Amino acid sequence: MLRQFELLERIKAYDPKADEDFVNRAYVYAMKMHGSQKRESGDPYFSHPLEVAGILTNYKLDAASIVTALLHDIVEDTRATLEEIREIFGEETARLVDGVTKLTRIQVQNVETKQAENFRKFVLAMSEDIRVLMVKLADRLHNMRTLNYIADSDKRRSIAMETMEIYAPLAERIGMQEIKTELEDLSFAELHAEARESILTRLRFLELHGGDLVVKIMDELDQVISKANIKGYVSGREKTAYSIWRKMQIKDVSFAQLSDIMAFRIMVNSIEDCYSILGVVHRSYPTVPGRFKDYISTPKRNGYRSIHTSVIGPQKHKIEIQIRTHEMHEISELGVAAHWRYKSTDNSLGSDVLNPMEGRQYLWLQELLDILEHAPTPQEFLEHTKLEMFQDQVFCFTPKGDLIALPRGAGPVDFAYAVHTEVGNTCVGAKVNGRIVPLRTQLQNGDQVEVVTSSAQKPSPEWEGFIVTGKARAHIRRRFRSDARMEYIKLGQEILEKTFTKEGYLLSDKGLRGVMGKFGVETIEDLYEKVGEGRLVGREVLVAVYPGVRSAGTENVIDLSQARLKQSHNNDSAIAIRGLTHGMAVHISTCCCPLPGDRIIGITADGRGVDIHTIDCETLDAYTDEPERWVDLTWDAEVDKDIHIGRLNVVVANEPGSLGEFSVIVARNHGNISNLKILNRSREFFEMKIDIEVRGVKHLTNIIAALRATPAINSVERARG
Ligand code: MN
Repeated sequence: MLRQFELLERIKAYDPKADEDFVNRAYVYAMKMHGSQKRESGDPYFSHPLEVAGILTNYKLDAASIVTALLHDIVEDTRATLEEIREIFGEETARLVDGVTKLTRIQVQNVETKQAENFRKFVLAMSEDIRVLMVKLADRLHNMRTLNYIADSDKRRSIAMETMEIYAPLAERIGMQEIKTELEDLSFAELHAEARESILTRLRFLELHGGDLVVKIMDELDQVISKANIKGYVSGREKTAYSIWRKMQIKDVSFAQLSDIMAFRIMVNSIEDCYSILGVVHRSYPTVPGRFKDYISTPKRNGYRSIHTSVIGPQKHKIEIQIRTHEMHEISELGVAAHWRYKSTDNSLGSDVLNPMEGRQYLWLQELLDILEHAPTPQEFLEHTKLEMFQDQVFCFTPKGDLIALPRGAGPVDFAYAVHTEVGNTCVGAKVNGRIVPLRTQLQNGDQVEVVTSSAQKPSPEWEGFIVTGKARAHIRRRFRSDARMEYIKLGQEILEKTFTKEGYLLSDKGLRGVMGKFGVETIEDLYEKVGEGRLVGREVLVAVYPGVRSAGTENVIDLSQARLKQSHNNDSAIAIRGLTHGMAVHISTCCCPLPGDRIIGITADGRGVDIHTIDCETLDAYTDEPERWVDLTWDAEVDKDIHIGRLNVVVANEPGSLGEFSVIVARNHGNISNLKILNRSREFFEMKIDIEVRGVKHLTNIIAALRATPAINSVERARG
C-alpha cells in the first residue's frame, strides 16, 4: 500500500508547488471515513482510493485530481456528504467528487454493442470535467487489477465486459493509450482466459526459439538508422495478447498465419526526420502493401500522430514500425493528461517539448489546454472542446434500464416517441425519477422516464410547441394529416351531395366508382378528399358521371373573356390555336400561378377548356409528347385590375420575428398574404409555400426583390410547378 509520504513525494516530483496540506487533509479524512471497511481482497478499503491516486500521479495530474481520487468513493460508501466535502475542501473538489460519484452510480447491465456507443457518450456527457473521467478511468483500472478477488463470476464478467465496451474505448478516445491497453488486457483475461493463455504460450515459445528476437531486430534497426546519420531511438515489443486475438478475429486467421506479432517504434527529434527514417526503412526492407498510414499529415480524431508501415524486416520477419517524434509519443501515451505536464512544469521539460504544440496538428490539444486554463465554467469548457462531449445530447433511461439518447431540450413526449410510436401517440403524462412532471419538462442526463399512456389520448397540437425530435414531429404531423384527411373526405362528400342534388341527380357510389380512373384515384374516399381539398371541382365530377350536364359556368373556373386573354392570331411568332373557341373555360393552374405579364402557355383539357401555365412551369414537361394540346396565349395587359394569386416558395430563418418581418415587407409593398403553408420546419429554417394577392408579375417581382434584400429571409422563389 502506498504510504502518505510516498504519495506526496510523487506529486512533489512533478509539481513542487502543489498544496501539501490540501493533499494531507484529504488523505487523513478519507482514511478516517473509510475506517475499518474492507475490500473483497481483505485489504483495508482505503488502500483502493490511495492506489487510484497513485495511478494518477503517473499522469502528473493536479492536486485537485489527486484529492478527488482519494475522496472518490466517500459519498457513495461512507456517511460523509457532499456538503461536508464542499465545506472542508472547497467547491472545485466537491464538484469533481460529485462527478465521479454520479459515474459510479451508472449501472450498465448487459452492454449490447449497439448500445455501447450511447453509454460511452453518456459517460462523457456525465463527466463534464475531463478530470472526472480520468479519476474514473484510474478507479476502473485499479478495480480491474483486483478483479480476481471478487468471488461472483457473473459479476466479474459483467465488470470486465463493461470495461471492454465502455471504459477502454473512452481511455483511447481521450488518448490515454497505456490505460486503454491495460484495461483491455485485464478484461480479456477475464472474458477469454483460455484464448489469452494460448496466445501467451505461443509467444513464449517463439521467444525461446528465436532467441530474443525483439532485441535482435531492434539492434538491426538501430544500425540501419545510424548508418543513415539520423538520431533516433528504437523500441520494440510484442503486441498485446488482446490485439493479436482481435486481429485473429477480424482477419479470421490462425495464430500460425499471423506473422506480425511484433511492433517497433522509432522516435526521432523532428517531423523531417520521421520522413527521412521512413525513406531509409522503405529502402532497406520490402514493404507490405496496404499497411502504410500517415497520421502525421492526417492526425486521428483524438490527436494521435504517427507514421505506420509494415515491412518484411530483419531476419525475414514481418513487423510493424511506427515512426514518430518524441513529443508525438508522449501525447500518444498520456493523451489529455500530457497537458498537465506542460501546464505545471513550465519550462522544466525544455523547450523542445513545448514547441511542437505550436503546430497546427496539435490544435486539438492546444485548444483543450487553452480552454482548461481560461474557461471560467465547465459549461464553457464543454462547448469548446473537440472531445465529443455530446453537450448537445441528453441520455435518459426507461424503467427497464434501456438508454435513450435525445437532443438537448427534449422532453417526455420526445422520449415517448423514441421508445415507440404508439407510446408517443397515446402519451398523457410522464414520471421523471418517480415524480409526475408536466409534458413540457426538459429532461436531464441520467433521468429515468416512465411514460403514462392512455388509449383515449391523441397527439395534441400543443406538443408542437415543445417537442424537439424529428421523429416526434413527423409522427404528430402524420396524425394531424390523417385527421385532416377525414375532414376533407367529409367536406368533399358534402360538396358532391350539394352539387348533384342542385342539378337533380343522385350521388351514388356506383356512379362515382365508374369515374375513379378518370380522376386518378383508387377509392371513393380519395375522390371525396380531392374534392374537399379543392383539387377537383364538384361539377367536374358531376359532368364525368353524367356527361349530359353542361360543363360551363362553375365556380373556380373563369371564363376566357374574364381572364382577358386574347388568342394570339395576330402575333407572327405564335402558332395557330387549335381546339380553343371563344367562351371556353380557362383554368389558372395552381402549380405555377401565372400572373398577368407572365409568358404563358395553354394546355387543352378534355371537356374542361384550357389550363394556363407559365412558360417555365415544370408541369409542362408532362405534355411534351402531345404538341396538339399546346395553345399559345398572351395576356391582354401586363397589369390587371383584378387580383391574382402569386405563389412563392420561401425559406425563412427560424428566429423570433422573422415571420413578422416577412409579412411586414409584403404589406409595405401592397401585397396581401392569402395563404401560407409550412412545408418544413427545421431547427434553423421554415420552408413555406405562400400565396400573395398581387396585380401582376411586376408587382410580385417587386415584392420578391424586397424580400431578397432582407437578412432573415434565406431564399424566395416563385413556384414552378
Ligand atoms: Mn472506487
